[in-house]
Amino acid sequence: MRTVFWFRNDLRVHDNPGLAAASVAAQQAGVPLEAVYVATPQTWQRHDLGPRRADLLLRRVNALGGELAARGIVLHCLTVPRFCDLASALVQWLGQAPVALYANRELPLDEVRRDEAVCARLGAQGIACHWYDERCVLPPGQVLTGAGDMFKVFTPFSRAWLKQVLANGVRVAPLPAAQGTPLVWSDWACDYPRLPSDAWPVAEQAVRQQLWDFARYQAVAYAENRDLPAVAATSRLSPYLALGVISVRQCLLALIEALGQLPVDKASPGFAWLNELIWREFYQHLLALEPRLSRGEPFKPEMAALGWRHDDTQFALWCQGRTGYPIVDAAMRCLNQTGWMHNRLRMIVASFLTKDLQLPWWWGERYFMQQLIDGELAANNGGWQWSAGTGADAAPWFRIFNPTTQSQKFDPHGHFIRRYLPELADVPDSDIHAPQRWLQQRGRQSDYPAPMVEHAVARELTLAMFRALAD
Ligand SMILES: Cc1cc2nc3c(=O)[nH]c(=O)nc-3n(C[C@H](O)[C@H](O)[C@H](O)COP(=O)(O)OP(=O)(O)OC[C@H]3O[C@@H](n4cnc5c(N)ncnc54)[C@H](O)[C@@H]3O)c2cc1C
Repeated sequence: MRTVFWFRNDLRVHDNPGLAAASVAAQQAGVPLEAVYVATPQTWQRHDLGPRRADLLLRRVNALGGELAARGIVLHCLTVPRFCDLASALVQWLGQAPVALYANRELPLDEVRRDEAVCARLGAQGIACHWYDERCVLPPGQVLTGAGDMFKVFTPFSRAWLKQVLANGVRVAPLPAAQGTPLVWSDWACDYPRLPSDAWPVAEQAVRQQLWDFARYQAVAYAENRDLPAVAATSRLSPYLALGVISVRQCLLALIEALGQLPVDKASPGFAWLNELIWREFYQHLLALEPRLSRGEPFKPEMAALGWRHDDTQFALWCQGRTGYPIVDAAMRCLNQTGWMHNRLRMIVASFLTKDLQLPWWWGERYFMQQLIDGELAANNGGWQWSAGTGADAAPWFRIFNPTTQSQKFDPHGHFIRRYLPELADVPDSDIHAPQRWLQQRGRQSDYPAPMVEHAVARELTLAMFRALAD
């Protein structure tokens, strides 16, 4: 029976459960395993796939094609406009011969519905679909409260998650068997707006090396500097986890290999990094178990009535990095120029948009998806709702970051700010976080905008907005 593996957001050869199972099935059937990838540019546009992330994705598909070809596996690339065109395209391409299709599950609602439609259509043609879990260490639905519900806050989820992981251990799927002689891969193209993503290597081996190097040499010190945007102290693996170039299980195993064991208690070196991987897992589970998150609804339903302001002009200033708050502006310009933003800065700019400007969190969420090289629905939605006070979070809505004190604390000498705001290059450290007075004294106020809002005033307006909901 013809055996086909369908690649989606799991663009890797190692630890790919669906691919490994398809390889075994093909061997048993005595047929060569084939693989397919289907681009859907119109749906990509609707899902806000930005030009940098698209470039990384398409470069990765080509690299994967080469890696599979080296193992004798052919990757067929198709293009259809939308998800809803996929079922017909697959039926047509797979043809009449007996076929088994293998794939890994995806969690966002549109993807789930797409797969249900494909499964029904293929089932009607007598084509069996086999589904596997790959996105998380523990599949969504497996980490629940005693009452069988999803955890609504992170800490108890992480405890329950750790308990199961320690009890079950972490295993990765075997490599698919090499078959026949290596094939030749010819680059495939898909018409979609792109911006260069060359700063990010796409060979699976290079990404695995990046993971091992981080686990061996940096994971232990991660807790010390991970909040400082001027220091390269985090793994920068998120674009690869988002596209599935590496798996979260591989991350855990790299950590175990580097440290001798999983760092499970808070004080142990490496725990802080593990904790971030559990945050990732938490948001993946939430997305899978709360389909309304994929529809843009707040996690806390009562927050749907919040009176966000809809001010396009202020939103444009935030997007362009012209708010008059240097840490916010440097972060946004970094995002616009490179597609990357450090986690601490994501929290600061998201808090600024929602709590200083009272603009809708979903505007920021969408802009991030369009710009970020690692844009990913679960983490992005989770991060934005956490920042806006509408999300799965134990902290109360009145937690409001002060952008200036955040800047003093996490970029004390303004190294990061100066990298992206060259107009402030000569402002001394003492004034870099609020440079307007210093510039004014030198007659240079036109170099940099005045703050678009006064934080203390904005904070009161936000508190009033949330209180109005409670009344
Ligand atoms: C408003 C906002 C939006 C965000 N949008 C995204 C997004 O679109 N895609 C994305 O991958 N992450 C997002 N994050 C989470 C986080 O900022 C990034 O994962 C992290 O900055 C990536 O850098 P790194 O790979 O060096 O992470 P590291 O610090 O090395 O962490 C390792 C991995 O853990 C995961 N991780 C780390 N922090 C978080 C977190 N807070 N939530 C979920 N997973 C986490 C990521 O997969 C990351 O690669 C967002 C956070 C906020 C506050």
